[in-house]
Amino acid sequence: MSTTPTTDDAAETEPESTLATARKQLERAATNTDVDPAIVERLKHPTRVQQVSVPLERDDGTVEVFTGYRAQHDDVRGPYKGGLRYHPEVTAAECTGLSMWMTWKCAVMDLPFGGGKGGIAVDPKSLTDDERERLTRRFAEEIRDVVGPTKDVPAPDMGTDAQTMAWFMDAYSMQQGETIPGVVTGKPPVIGGSYGREAAPGRSTAIAAREAVDYYGRDLAETTVAVQGFGSVGANAARLLDDWGTTVVAVSDVNGAIYAPDGLDTHAVPTHEEEPEAVLSHEAPQTLSNDAVLELDVDVLIPAAVGNVITASNADAVAADVVVEGANGPTTFAADEILEGNGVAVIPDILANAGGVTVSYFEWLQDINRRTWSLERVNEELEEQMLSAWSDVRAVVDERDLPWRDAAYVVALSRIAEAKGARGLWP
Ligand code: NAD
Repeated sequence: MSTTPTTDDAAETEPESTLATARKQLERAATNTDVDPAIVERLKHPTRVQQVSVPLERDDGTVEVFTGYRAQHDDVRGPYKGGLRYHPEVTAAECTGLSMWMTWKCAVMDLPFGGGKGGIAVDPKSLTDDERERLTRRFAEEIRDVVGPTKDVPAPDMGTDAQTMAWFMDAYSMQQGETIPGVVTGKPPVIGGSYGREAAPGRSTAIAAREAVDYYGRDLAETTVAVQGFGSVGANAARLLDDWGTTVVAVSDVNGAIYAPDGLDTHAVPTHEEEPEAVLSHEAPQTLSNDAVLELDVDVLIPAAVGNVITASNADAVAADVVVEGANGPTTFAADEILEGNGVAVIPDILANAGGVTVSYFEWLQDINRRTWSLERVNEELEEQMLSAWSDVRAVVDERDLPWRDAAYVVALSRIAEAKGARGLWP
């Protein structure tokens, strides 16, 4: 096994902003709580970052060696949990920052998990299916010692999917000598995946939007919504909100947006999965640029495409009353302050799109208990878990007059600190 142990240092030497942002957010969150500074200091550092070399025999017989990572931030509340991404820009520092976000996301949802994230620095589009399979199986072998249903449970992320998780689970199971579905989540249901997992982040985003509309005393039937990104998160959120009576006036993909002031039939607009990048093929009264979607005068704006789209340069132009973060990190640190100053409520990603990790938790429970839940049960339990997290965060918003992001961090950090306090520092 060609693993290079650890490493905080590996993470610290790389100039990567995700980690810096994650640490800045932790420091800011700490100022809103009375958490012991020693615990905050411990949370600035991951438990470990495993770096591995992953050799791949290409279809033409040549061998290429890729670098893989698994960052494990904190497991005081349970096994590490988080995605594996295949992307050329994956680094130790990025994985570490993202694993910190997973720690907060699991804690705000009160899931018995900590935060992890990993991946391989590779462009998955440059690989054939056979090559992706061989790469995934070898990666599973290289990080086998640090993952497992009670240690660290990966899931799909950018560039990986249910099939990747199936290969990973098979490779791990073959090496362990028994079938262990709970080593990863996001698998196909036939091998222990959960119904409703794929739609869950969009569903939770829609639930967060619905609750926010209610919190601000509005009626869903009189609410207008714009959604940037019509993929797994954006399309599921848009269609549910449409079904619940809102007027979805605009949706977009990477090529641009369609706009209908009286509302779109979101079920008729092709999602990224149904027909990639085909939103503009749907007839609508008007088309807009992608950036213009963010500036529409709507009640609810849902950025659900990529990170860092609301920045210091366009935050002032955001005309929505509520922004619900379907994507991870769509609002920059600086933009957050501008939105706050303008009275725009931002429902943070760690709460809004946490349906994904929540249903991953349900999948893990189903795998461990060898018992499948129906889609109805998954959706009911997700609704319950979301409402519970929503009400915990809302209580802090009301009691402390904090923005939603700060309140979500207060809930998460308090839970983690309490667990660390109870367990103590060993030895
Ligand atoms: P996806 O690939 O299914 O869809 C992405 C959509 O965004 C597509 O419609 C694409 O055309 C569009 N898009 C891409 N770049 C764009 C750009 N620059 N401007 C406008 N639109 C653009 O992706 P997804 O799974 O829906 O993920 C979207 C976001 O949600 C990401 O930030 C992801 O990290 C986050 N997220 C996803 C999950 C999940 O399980 N799918 C869970 C939590 C968070």
